[in-house]
Amino acid sequence: MKIGFIGLGNMGRPMALNLVKAGHELAVFDPVPASVQALSTAGAHAATSVQAVAQTHGLEMLITMLPAAAHVRAVYLGEDGLLAVVPKGVLLVDSSTIDPMTAREVAAAAQRQGNAMVDAPVSGGTGGAEAGTLTFMVGGADGDFARVQPVLARMGRNIVHCGGAGNGQVAKVANNMLLGISMIGAAEAMSLGVALGMDAQVLAGVINTSSGRCWSTDTYNPFPGVLPNAPASRGYTGGFGTDLMLKDLGLATEAARAAKLPVAMGALAQQLYQGFSAQGHGGLDFSAIIETIRGKAA
Ligand code: NAD
Repeated sequence: MKIGFIGLGNMGRPMALNLVKAGHELAVFDPVPASVQALSTAGAHAATSVQAVAQTHGLEMLITMLPAAAHVRAVYLGEDGLLAVVPKGVLLVDSSTIDPMTAREVAAAAQRQGNAMVDAPVSGGTGGAEAGTLTFMVGGADGDFARVQPVLARMGRNIVHCGGAGNGQVAKVANNMLLGISMIGAAEAMSLGVALGMDAQVLAGVINTSSGRCWSTDTYNPFPGVLPNAPASRGYTGGFGTDLMLKDLGLATEAARAAKLPVAMGALAQQLYQGFSAQGHGGLDFSAIIETIRGKAA
């Protein structure tokens, strides 16, 4: 299939590479020349602009993987943006993590233009992008999901249809809000137990076979040394950055405001990560938030 790919950053680059490896014909663009170079070396066609990707002869699908909603608006809705130039019928797929309201607005604009669009944010991080094991949360019409599914399956393992336009982003913000909250809960519980004299491994073992168990305790425990492969056991490097969690909690609280729904725990979690980031720790894995509880943050 002839596919356009715009946004070749930490996630987009390995995702696009997996599509090339799967035999798709790719036209790619990113403002960073080195990123485009990496793809053209692998066999993709290096386009010179967003517009050039959209105008690739015979294009069937176009995927974007951009930092945030402002970039998605600019790339799709800008004066010389994608919607102004992309031929009717090309299926548009945005995999960036953005708020559901913007996703729905851009999808509606695309629809008016004669292009179906799905939102397909991902979970799984750069490791999942490289290994082709991402989870895609997809919002869009049934027929469009059926068209996009086989392509996404070359970049991910779980491709979930979440409902109509914007619902992929809804699933993503709801999940990540819970993750942000549960990590702080895990950090408090682990810190409390250890401060009161328990061994961290034994405590984690009890929690993980009891009612407090969750992903933040059994797979990504924030206490150093409990899980050898978790970021906590390598100085909170790698993993999912505090600033990325902060971005997702911002999306969740913004979406909650639009829905007029109180998310007190989500908002509190957002403020705690914001304080941690303001201390200069935005680049550390988000489980490092435990350091503010243990009194170890600088
Ligand atoms: P990134 O900043 O590494 O990559 C974004 C790319 O978009 C950059 O290469 C940038 O040059 C390009 N870009 C910016 N403006 C552009 C424009 N106008 N036209 C074309 N290209 C443009 O970000 P990332 O880590 O790859 O994340 C991408 C998205 O995926 C974000 O929305 C992020 O929240 C989400 N996400 C990231 C992770 C992760 O672990 N990094 C995990 C899940 C979801």
